[in-house]
Amino acid sequence: MGTELVSLARAEERVWRCRAALEALTDDAELASLRAERDRLARERAGLHGEALELEHRIAQLDAQRHELGRRQSRLRAQESTADYRDQERLDSELDTLRRRLEELDEGELEAMEALDELRARETSLAEHEALTERRIAALEEALEGERARRAAELSEAKAHWAALLGELDEPVRRRIEGRARRGRSLALVDGSRCSVCHMTLSQAVASSFARGESVDCESCGAWLVGEA
Ligand SMILES: [Zn+2]
Repeated sequence: MGTELVSLARAEERVWRCRAALEALTDDAELASLRAERDRLARERAGLHGEALELEHRIAQLDAQRHELGRRQSRLRAQESTADYRDQERLDSELDTLRRRLEELDEGELEAMEALDELRARETSLAEHEALTERRIAALEEALEGERARRAAELSEAKAHWAALLGELDEPVRRRIEGRARRGRSLALVDGSRCSVCHMTLSQAVASSFARGESVDCESCGAWLVGEA
């Protein structure tokens, strides 16, 4: 009976260690920083995308203006062939103004297109960086999930071992242990003069009772003290 309870106390200890190990397994710092990095990249890319759309809109506007001016230029040129001397001068000056305005538009459009190319290149590079980060996140998550499954299997195994040992005990003792297990720790070993569960030193009275082989509980945690006196 004594050795069976000691084995059960050790099995219980293992169940609690396995459970603590499983609960301690949370997402690690590297994963958290990678997720933050991915979110930052996504925000930056969305910002660039917005800027690119604005530029596309501006290029379309410049294009429309250029076409409008082109049409005016053609009209003025047609008038020029039939114009008299005074009108000719006015038409020349208007055509001059138009030509300068068209040159400005061309220049503006070219600049905008270059800026757009640059934005798109940055967008692509951000997307690549983002995809790389995403793959590293997935790999880490997979590793973490594997470790979690391993620890969960260990816990199940420890619980099964504990239940099997418990099943070998006589009914009254088993009930006594099951009742305690529902509230927390049920069995503790005496390690020197300390309780193996809460690590508190036993009082003189409890230590004496235990030494006499009496059934006694730890005064601190309530676990049933078992093992060799
Ligand atoms: Zn205790």
